[in-house]
Amino acid sequence: MSAGVAYVHIPFCARRCPYCDFRISVGREEARDRYVASVVAEIEREADWLPLAAVYFGGGTPSYLGAGGLEKILAALERRFGIAAGAEISLEANPEDWSAALVQALAAAGFTRVSLGAQSLDPSVLRTLGRVHTPEQVPAAVDLARKAGFRSVNLDLIFGTPGESPTSWERTVAKALAADSDHVSCYALTIEPGTEMFQRVAGSEAAPDPDDQADRYEAADRLLSAAGLNRYEVSNWARPGHECRYNQAVWAQGEYAAFGMAAHRFRDGVRGHNLQRLDAYLAAVEAGRSPFIATEKVTGWDREVERVFLGLRRAGGVRAGPAGEALVESAEGRRLVEAGVIALQGERIVVRRPLLTDAAARAVLALPPPDC
Ligand code: SF4
Repeated sequence: MSAGVAYVHIPFCARRCPYCDFRISVGREEARDRYVASVVAEIEREADWLPLAAVYFGGGTPSYLGAGGLEKILAALERRFGIAAGAEISLEANPEDWSAALVQALAAAGFTRVSLGAQSLDPSVLRTLGRVHTPEQVPAAVDLARKAGFRSVNLDLIFGTPGESPTSWERTVAKALAADSDHVSCYALTIEPGTEMFQRVAGSEAAPDPDDQADRYEAADRLLSAAGLNRYEVSNWARPGHECRYNQAVWAQGEYAAFGMAAHRFRDGVRGHNLQRLDAYLAAVEAGRSPFIATEKVTGWDREVERVFLGLRRAGGVRAGPAGEALVESAEGRRLVEAGVIALQGERIVVRRPLLTDAAARAVLALPPPDC
């Protein structure tokens, strides 16, 4: 690999959205300075690597940390590894935090891409999702990013929220395009155990309807494609040249360093994650201990299966190789080929019905090692 890639997890959020089951810390303002210092310390202790071509600050809500903390972490990455010329420096942000002062400070610090948690541009859907921003704040946030010089702007959207009509969803997608985003990510609302929405659905509220969600997905694909945003992964569409480089590296089974509470990493063939509770993470780093927990060394057949599993998410598919060939020769693989879900195109396997990507992925994971 000719460049490094890094992920930084910022776990803070102002409140918990009713559908969210991510590992986050609500409030905890008193811990923010300690957190920044701990992430910087972790970066300083990391093994040498190449200059970084892509950095992704995810969360949580990175923008909730403010410009100062994000700048300190980015500066630490630059001191430790260097930042390659033209690197993509990306962060997730909520529209309500995205002030002109914050945006200008982040652009000046070197951030080039923002992923805004728009979710919907319908006020009633935003209320159901417990989001506090207004639809009008979304195009205003895109505009601020453009004026500050951000190269790429993504809007995250959620489809299939109970109460969302087909017209509401199509208007949301149309408004996202009219806001001049050059990247859109669309995810089906899922009701996760332990969330407030799970309780509501266990009571009297309607659950998302999978058939409706399939219709919404197809509508999004049609509208986004017609506007010149190509689907390059199951849930991601972009104008040419605006695909997220960090995510592309991950789907290509590239290695990435990762810093911060609960951050997942893959370096030197080892996958793992950092301690998943804020106080445990801070205590470990402040005591000079590594917060990292290795979970698996990915080698041999497992690595080959993982390569195909990850690559099937990409619209361009993945080089078949031994696992891809085993897939199309397996009983389940033949069934998926006959049903038009997957196809062998030259040396590559491509998922032709993206809504069924999980079925193809399960078939890959079920493949026995070649000597069985
Ligand atoms: S802002 Fe994002 S990470 Fe934070 S609670 Fe809401 S969905 Fe979860």
